[in-house]
Amino acid sequence: MGDILIRDAFIATMDGSRRVYPRGSMYVDDGRIVEVGREVEAPWSPEYVIDGGHRLVLPGFVNVHSHLQQYFRGVYELIGDFYGVNLPLEGYRRPEDMEWLGLASCAEFIYGGCTTSMVIYTYPDGFASAVEEAGLRVVLGADIEEVDLERLRKGVYEYLPEKGEAAFKRAVKLHRDWHGRGGGLFTTVMAPKAADLAMPETYLKCSEFAGEHGLRMTTHLSQSWRECQQVERLYGKTPPRHLHDLSVLDDRLTGAHCTYATEADTRLIAESGMGILHCRGVRNPLVRWLDMGIPVGLGTDDYFHDVLQLLRENLAGQRARARAVGGAFGMLLGDRTRARPGFYELLELATRRGAEVLGLGGEVGSLEPGKRADFITVDMLNPFLTPTKDPLTSLVLYGSSGDISDVVVDGRLLKKDGSLVSFKMAEALVRAQGRVEEIIGRFFEDHPGQGERWRRMVPYME
Ligand SMILES: [Zn+2]
Repeated sequence: MGDILIRDAFIATMDGSRRVYPRGSMYVDDGRIVEVGREVEAPWSPEYVIDGGHRLVLPGFVNVHSHLQQYFRGVYELIGDFYGVNLPLEGYRRPEDMEWLGLASCAEFIYGGCTTSMVIYTYPDGFASAVEEAGLRVVLGADIEEVDLERLRKGVYEYLPEKGEAAFKRAVKLHRDWHGRGGGLFTTVMAPKAADLAMPETYLKCSEFAGEHGLRMTTHLSQSWRECQQVERLYGKTPPRHLHDLSVLDDRLTGAHCTYATEADTRLIAESGMGILHCRGVRNPLVRWLDMGIPVGLGTDDYFHDVLQLLRENLAGQRARARAVGGAFGMLLGDRTRARPGFYELLELATRRGAEVLGLGGEVGSLEPGKRADFITVDMLNPFLTPTKDPLTSLVLYGSSGDISDVVVDGRLLKKDGSLVSFKMAEALVRAQGRVEEIIGRFFEDHPGQGERWRRMVPYME
């Protein structure tokens, strides 16, 4: 791993003091940031020099909640039958498909500047091999659920302990095979899927395993009304209260969404130290969570892993929400500098605060000496971004993944001057497209009645 010197760039460290160096330099050696500041000299001639006249440099994005479902784009959006098409189709992916599908996912993460992603997925082994080739930093979890999805489709919860057992074994194997690999690029997490989909014993087993191995836990929490109803029916409680009473609601746990958390749930979450993984939900009181001191990070969740787009969706969604409920922004409309969430605040959630939520705050998320060298550079010299008096605001409002010039993880260049260099992106995408066609073909063989429906609803399908 060679050393890297960046000079004369706009460096936003995203550290706790919000330090920015408008004409700054940064020196990276052996995968770590050695120095960042106004004037930094490399001790010898560095292997790679980035002359940053028009570059913005900031920590890589930390994507705190994502799955690998984006392969069936154009199907999900147009057919939209989650239990009838989406979920069964997922089941047609074979582990051997994941070599190319996994690389396609890695391409998406890297291209958009995600240097760390937490990825929860049923069969993560093939994906982990792709991640290793691509060079990303990941927190990986094999999700554990034990309901019969075929019956759930008809609204019936039937728990299959053997399904939960098999999923738990996959999670343990994932940990044994991958945790700590790649010089620490891989971390694993225990991921019982949700309180309506995994039984209390499974949460406790995961918690015990996590405790023994120093791991964290993650789950979907108060994500859907159906989940809340089922948990109420089984235990007479809300999902956060249920997990609290099981003693798993604590600062080692992160919960995705929390859309249907009640006022009492939110106070319970704040007291517990649990982190919230917020994605797009307009119902979610993001600003309030932040003001209550709840650790929050941002995740892309399902079909589209573009963090800049996610920031804009949150900007629009949260401000629309505030107006709709007559909240803070409604009162502050006359003063744009105080509007929440702010541009900088969103970037913090997508970098340092996201890393903190995942327990990686000591290693990544900001540009500070001693931290791992995970960063991106943005080429500001394009007509959507320049001229500007505030590069960070412009990036949030008008930037796109294509503007991200370099992506560096652990001191290794994965994207250079706008192109992926750790593997051949075009080949991965073409091969992944072939796999998707083949998977859908097999799905049709078993569901001959679906063909006509698909052709009607997906206009360009051959
Ligand atoms: Zn999710």
